[in-house]
Amino acid sequence: MRQYSMTIGGESVAGNATFDVVNPATAEVHAAAPECEAEQLDAAFAAAHQAYGTWRKNERARRRALHAAADLLMRRTDQLAPVLTAEQGKPLKDAAFEIAGAGWWLKHFADMPLPHEVIRDDAEARVEVVRRPMGVVAAITPWNFPLMLACWKLGPALLAGNTVVLKPSPYTPLTTLALGELLREVLPPGVVNVVSGSDPLGARMTAHPVPRKISFTGSVATGKEVAAVAAGDLKRVTLELGGNDPAIVLDDADPRAVAPHLFQHAFENNGQLCSAIKRVYVSERRHDDLVEVMAKLAREAKVGNGFDDGVRFGPINNEPQFERIVELVEDARGRGATVAAGGGPLEGPGYFYRPTVLADVDDSVRVVHEEQFGPVLPIVRYTSLDEVIARANESHFGLDGSVWGTDTDRAAEVAAALECGTTWVNTHFSVHPGQPFGGHKWSGVGVENGRLGLEAFTEVQVRSRHKGNVA
Ligand code: NAD
Repeated sequence: MRQYSMTIGGESVAGNATFDVVNPATAEVHAAAPECEAEQLDAAFAAAHQAYGTWRKNERARRRALHAAADLLMRRTDQLAPVLTAEQGKPLKDAAFEIAGAGWWLKHFADMPLPHEVIRDDAEARVEVVRRPMGVVAAITPWNFPLMLACWKLGPALLAGNTVVLKPSPYTPLTTLALGELLREVLPPGVVNVVSGSDPLGARMTAHPVPRKISFTGSVATGKEVAAVAAGDLKRVTLELGGNDPAIVLDDADPRAVAPHLFQHAFENNGQLCSAIKRVYVSERRHDDLVEVMAKLAREAKVGNGFDDGVRFGPINNEPQFERIVELVEDARGRGATVAAGGGPLEGPGYFYRPTVLADVDDSVRVVHEEQFGPVLPIVRYTSLDEVIARANESHFGLDGSVWGTDTDRAAEVAAALECGTTWVNTHFSVHPGQPFGGHKWSGVGVENGRLGLEAFTEVQVRSRHKGNVA
């Protein structure tokens, strides 16, 4: 069994203790990861703090290092992808796709201009608005896209001149630990430190006195804890939290044409995506046709070990999440839902669940108003546009939403009425590193990506120089 090590101050640091990492396709322990101790966490933050002094000063070196990191990451795809499949469950080709995306993100930030504005330059004064780095950033990620989400944070944080202590989820620590090893080859010691451990390591990081900013991606419940702890020191926070994205299918949409797209965006990564479509609203007239095609697609999709050929969806990542999916589908059944496809686990030992399409559900069913984060999609009827917009918005979540129809102007109007961070017409979760991404309401605070995401890793400094000679 391979032992992975942490990266602290440019050194490989093994844990005195380790915790088990389970392969969700076999439910067996397949690796051990270090359990970061209090002194090791202090050392990681101290190393980041020390590295910050030099790192913040040389923008060109930072850009070069980000390019080198991206190139190296992509060159190591063949080594990293199997580790990602084994710890996360996703099929090998999806793992390679995640790594390519992570590299793309780093490259994009390597070339992004740093904001700098001259807002006044006249006879009296020159006033510039510049962005200073914050110092040390604590970055905490979830288990669904460990490498991608780490790079969403590393790219802008490092470009802005910060240094980072990064912690992956205890369910998927291995690829992030491997990323730390790889970054030792291209970054000065201490610029990126990677620690791992079971909870409450995350809580210890947010409470630690050194970081000035917490960049957190995870669940709403944990996000609220992070915000509360960060408030004690007025640490800056960016929170990317859960979602319950609605997709509204308008009356002029052909169910057969939109179904494959809805299916892809609902079940991508086995539904374990903050921005997956998590509820579909369709008019009475189109309901049965849509359910029929979606159910067919669900029955045809091959579920299995991500290392096997032709597998479209792997296992659910972990046992508690698997149990939650079982519970939500039972709740829907108990409230009269029709299980149009799936509806139960596949034979183990892994955490496999059949892609499930639920029809005849109303808004009282838990899977409609809670985040399922798994391969289960409820299809809900609506009668009027005003009504469906109100129902889509009646949620604590507000990450994204999409509207599907032939008249795209009308679809765009409906989309604009949704209370969420991103809306799409005739697609869903189409993102780009230059495009801000974040949630309204309980789905988050602040944004990642784009210029706004970069600015979130900086503090504003107004530099005002009076031109009159008074000295
Ligand atoms: P989680 O909140 O359980 O864990 C996320 C991370 O926080 C893990 O690294 C965990 O170890 C750490 N953590 C746990 N307790 C902590 C604490 N008290 N303080 C600080 N850190 C702590 O979430 P998860 O189950 O790993 O991920 C699934 C959730 O993430 C879903 O709700 C999903 O929607 C959300 N998510 C959001 C986005 C987004 O960009 N909006 C992206 C991916 C996932």
